Amino acid sequence: MNGEGESASAELHPFLTTFGRKLKLLQAHDPLKQWWSLDEMRFCVKCQHLFLGRDIRFLEDDSQVVHFHCPTFDCDGGFADWEYPELHL
Ligand SMILES: [Zn+2]
Repeated sequence: MNGEGESASAELHPFLTTFGRKLKLLQAHDPLKQWWSLDEMRFCVKCQHLFLGRDIRFLEDDSQVVHFHCPTFDCDGGFADWEYPELHL
């Protein structure tokens, strides 16, 4: 029971912004981790891939709410699925 059930009417658009703004968004929205830079790595437990903060897909819905998705194609991983990579090395 996670990640499913999003309303089909919620259109998501790429949210284009500066790297500085992206970092601030991550710091403001990630309830679980600290973000010091966009070059930090995270490990997605859903797709088993490492990625950088700068690669996260920033999407905006019609209500100007920003959504954060795993950069892996077809993976809908989010903050709850991302762990500090140190745990896996
Ligand atoms: Zn993923």
